[in-house]
Amino acid sequence: MGVCNWCGSAFPLTRSTRKYCTTRCKTNACLGRKPSRIRAAEVEALHELLQAELPSAELFRERLRAIIAPHLPPIVAEGAALVPTLD
Ligand SMILES: [Zn+2]
Repeated sequence: MGVCNWCGSAFPLTRSTRKYCTTRCKTNACLGRKPSRIRAAEVEALHELLQAELPSAELFRERLRAIIAPHLPPIVAEGAALVPTLD
């Protein structure tokens, strides 16, 4: 038996699941990690954000969050029309 690195529950060790009991735990662990590098697609999105005309700082922060921290809850911009995302 192994112990899941994410949720701590015991699970039978196999070659494909060494550290996490499920792929969900692996995904959660991956999202919880602090990335030391920004992916090329994210850099591109950041450049687009730099050139975008946004009506408020909150909206800018929300766009920024969506790029670099999509797993965090959205920043609610008061009075700003948030563009809904399809996810
Ligand atoms: Zn787990």
